[in-house]
Amino acid sequence: MRAVYVVGRRLADMETTEAFEGLSCRDCGEFYDPETGTHRCGECEGILDPAYEYDEIDVDRETVAARPFDSMWRYAELLPFRREGAVTMDEGATPTIDCPSLAGEVGVGEFLIKDEGRNPTGTFKDRGASMAVTAAVQHGATDVALPSAGNAGQAAAAYAGRAGLASHVYLPARAGFTTKAMVNVHGGDLTVSGGRIGDAAAAYGDAMDEHEDWYSLSSLVTPYRHEGKKTMLYELVEQREWDVPDAIVYPTGGGVGLAGMYKAALELRELGLIDELPSFYAAQATGCAPIVEAFEAGREVHEPVEHPDTICGGIEIPDPGGSQWILEALRETDGGAVATDDEEILDAAIAVAQSEGLEMAPTCAAAASGAWALADAGEFDDDETVVVVNTGAGNKEADVLRSHLMSQGV
Ligand SMILES: *Cc1c(COP(=O)(O)O)cnc(C)c1O
Ligand SMILES: [Zn+2]
Repeated sequence: MRAVYVVGRRLADMETTEAFEGLSCRDCGEFYDPETGTHRCGECEGILDPAYEYDEIDVDRETVAARPFDSMWRYAELLPFRREGAVTMDEGATPTIDCPSLAGEVGVGEFLIKDEGRNPTGTFKDRGASMAVTAAVQHGATDVALPSAGNAGQAAAAYAGRAGLASHVYLPARAGFTTKAMVNVHGGDLTVSGGRIGDAAAAYGDAMDEHEDWYSLSSLVTPYRHEGKKTMLYELVEQREWDVPDAIVYPTGGGVGLAGMYKAALELRELGLIDELPSFYAAQATGCAPIVEAFEAGREVHEPVEHPDTICGGIEIPDPGGSQWILEALRETDGGAVATDDEEILDAAIAVAQSEGLEMAPTCAAAASGAWALADAGEFDDDETVVVVNTGAGNKEADVLRSHLMSQGV
């Protein structure tokens, strides 16, 4: 193992898995070993993506199935770091819940909800935080920092605390009360600035300029958040006995989880564990739908939304830096994109809670509402399996859901 220096700092030697080779730039193809590549590409600022020697990965369905279904780290051969050194609270291993009344209502064969609300801090952001904080520790970081709409900040503060790192979390005023409170509870250094995510990102940028040794956990700036989130797809496929669902509808902000799941599907196919890819659908809110607009216009990149406005804070991302990747995932898998308005989204959250008992936060309900709209538009056949990813627990924003009922006089 080599000792390496980044911005004058000696980084720790890294403990990586056998097949993990390094990081490859999605834009220019430049390749970095895991010690020297930490964030964006040094040549072109492109997104770095963990790369593996797939020939060296020896897993079959039986080996995986024989393991306890206890954490996302059970897929260690396909991850950059070993489970032993991971900063983990057994995130992942979430259930996929059958929703028969919704299937009947929507008119599909099966309607399933992958319930990420069961994660330690209540959202799938824990998968990304576990992986990225593990990388931060491996790189010898003492401080981690990120801008977030809320949930990623809470998850980062939790995992940083567990690893003994200081965390600096930049949230917009609009972030939900629970996420702000819990960043404090985890001992994170919280800065609330301006109204929306762009304001938080600006404050974070200024702070990073001042603190060269802070380690960024910003999504798609660190190569490891999408890498953690990709495990959702492995689980989903394994939970269905390796039968790939027809469609996966995902509440899309930065699209980090969607990019991760698309990558995971390609990996499973490369390894011969599945033959088909699921069709990926990006669901957004009409008040901020840059991916949907770009998809519908046939563009390869999004155009930033000037005045984003939706109650779905987790997906109010007007300028998603990974849009090319997301749009590729939608097109290459014969999927699509759909936007519904806040009213429909809140109605969907209530409908799911009342008909199936499952609690979805407003952001997440954009996927349920999107699935409805896609079904209405005839996108699914009546024997198809549709999965909605419930990215976070409904009780994180119970106040918003309750207010919606009140606005209807309930
Ligand atoms: C962050 C977040 C999203 C959007 O995630 P991306 O992968 O960046 O698109 C969706 N739902 C919830 C609850 C979130 O916290
Ligand atoms: Zn590059």
